Amino acid sequence: MTSLVEVYRRWPTNADCIAHLESVRWPGGPLCPYCGADRVSRNRDAKRTATAERWKCQRCLRSFSVTVGTIFHRTHVDLQRWFLLIALMLSARKGLSAMQAARDLDMRRPTVWSMMHRVRRAMKDDGRLLAGIVEMDESFVGGRRRKANRRDDDEPGPRGTSGKTPVVGAVERGGRVKAKAVKRGEISADDLRRFVAATIDCPRAVLTTDEYAGYNGLNAIVAHRRINHSVAYVERDLFSGQFGPVHTNTIEGVWAILKRAIFGQFHHVSPKYLPLYLNEIVYRYNARRHDDGFNVALYLAVNP
Ligand SMILES: [Zn+2]
Repeated sequence: MTSLVEVYRRWPTNADCIAHLESVRWPGGPLCPYCGADRVSRNRDAKRTATAERWKCQRCLRSFSVTVGTIFHRTHVDLQRWFLLIALMLSARKGLSAMQAARDLDMRRPTVWSMMHRVRRAMKDDGRLLAGIVEMDESFVGGRRRKANRRDDDEPGPRGTSGKTPVVGAVERGGRVKAKAVKRGEISADDLRRFVAATIDCPRAVLTTDEYAGYNGLNAIVAHRRINHSVAYVERDLFSGQFGPVHTNTIEGVWAILKRAIFGQFHHVSPKYLPLYLNEIVYRYNARRHDDGFNVALYLAVNP
């Protein structure tokens, strides 16, 4: 993962950052963001600022810079600061608070806060469905009761209590994760079924969940194995371990990351912003083994 030192080494000046962003956005050369023309030229007359107007379209005659239509547009923050912020966010394993980032970047906290939300908004899911052994579970953010307290709730029906925002998640064992905040105060069987259909490659996946009644009926659309927490946390698979042991430890690990980030760094997270924090946590988790997480983040930032 790209560190602060690496950002400074690879792109020592703001002009280097602009040139790099141009190569990420326009690998085949600059295109007018307004009309799509490739007949563009350097605009030498424009006033040079942090995100200077640097190009002029020969067809529609409009001036533009590489930041037009991206999360960097009209922020009056130089690109190198943005690069440093993205590197900080990606390398902060326990999450980065806006206060800490403001200190590290020597910027005002409200400015950094809104920049971080722009980055999170860009960290969208890639839309590829999960396959293989997929663990699915729910968690609750905010409120007082902990999830463990409702393990003995055998009654079919919605989970969750007031004051908490439900989050449903699925993770490939050894692979990628997807998570979604559910707006209502509870998770219904319909919510879970919709989430499965939208995130899991059903013909090619084996779904593992706990015994919550909301998961009843999923075996109609996907191969479905369940564990019984009251008997043993990890059960051996009856089918000769073909798919490995039946457990949901992987998704529980994702919830641990989420809760650590929210309680340790983001402090209070309102339901309004929870989807953005989820974007970041999911992106960091999925990029954890890739060297190009930084450049992929830049690509998403210029293709919002
Ligand atoms: Zn144009």
